[in-house]
Amino acid sequence: MKRILITGGAGFIGSHLSERLLNEGNDIICLDNFFTGSKDNIRHLIGNNRFELVRHDVIVEYLAEVDQIYNLACPASPVHYQYNPIKTIKTSVMGIINMLGLAKRCKARILQASTSEIYGNPQIHPQVEEYWGNVNPIGIRSCYDEGKRCAETLMMDYHRQNNVDIRIARIFNTYGPRMALNDGRVVSNFIVQALRNEPITVYGTGNQTRAFCYVDDLVDGLIKLMNSDYDSPVNLGNPGERTILEFAKLIIELTNSKSEIIFKELPQDDPVQREPNITVAKKVLNWEPKVSVVDGISRTIKYFKSII
Ligand code: NAD
Ligand code: UDP
Repeated sequence: MKRILITGGAGFIGSHLSERLLNEGNDIICLDNFFTGSKDNIRHLIGNNRFELVRHDVIVEYLAEVDQIYNLACPASPVHYQYNPIKTIKTSVMGIINMLGLAKRCKARILQASTSEIYGNPQIHPQVEEYWGNVNPIGIRSCYDEGKRCAETLMMDYHRQNNVDIRIARIFNTYGPRMALNDGRVVSNFIVQALRNEPITVYGTGNQTRAFCYVDDLVDGLIKLMNSDYDSPVNLGNPGERTILEFAKLIIELTNSKSEIIFKELPQDDPVQREPNITVAKKVLNWEPKVSVVDGISRTIKYFKSII
């Protein structure tokens, strides 16, 4: 049994991670300010005496005695991270400084939830960990991208300077049950629109690509990375790139929806293509996703049907 702190633990990925690690017999502190997360996501865990829910903001120092820290606190949807961009970058930068300080003091191992966004609008495809990225430092996505890049820098500097035991997961588009209804990301938007027979909103031409990973697979990867001895960044995602227009058609088919597809303006700096190269994860973690997109999307549709 380990004492594990999960920041952002009431969010979409954090709630699945909290549940998994609790079920594996660990003692969990789930820390969240409920900006995009919700008590509903972890309500079924409350009452377990190995589960502790703490309302706290990571930009403020937090003291505890723990063995491992998963730092997930940060809004992940462009709509939400652009709502208060100054707060977003503070959350990434001040949040990781506080968590690295805690890790240093307790000699805890810390995993940072980094992102494929650190590659920006990539000029190398699929993206490999050695690629330094192509990020606009002054655009509307920068509060998220540069905050996450700076967090990686801080992870490496605390590692080199103070010997902090670090793990960096570069997470690619992940989806599944407990994404918020108003999350604004493509998977939840399209499924909710399709189930309501409302128009499916494709931004731009829909020729931009993404690759989608089911949350259970991602959680497996995060836990494997945390418990490995690999301290360089690792891409975690499901290769299998498709265009957003193809994705819209797939959602219509899987929901039997009457929705039509409409086209809306493409947001600024929206990456043109994205797909993870997961050779490193396969080699050092013996990890690769198991859930197909059709299976994962079907499970996610079932979830949204149950809450709409
Ligand atoms: P989410 O928005 O559902 O979860 C983020 C959680 O962090 C929420 O519970 C939110 O309330 C909490 N939070 C935000 N700011 C906070 C603060 N200042 N203090 C304390 N808690 C705070 O998003 P998610 O998809 O679950 O993402 C979790 C993590 O994984 C994020 O760090 C995100 O950047 C990263 N990530 C996610 C994806 C993805 O596709 N889902 C991709 C790349 C990276
Ligand atoms: N997108 C879209 N319609 C929507 C929401 C998103 O066409 O209703 C597009 C968005 O422009 C991007 C892709 O889907 O090209 C993925 O967007 P999301 O916000 O899910 O995540 P991103 O990968 O951009 O962070």
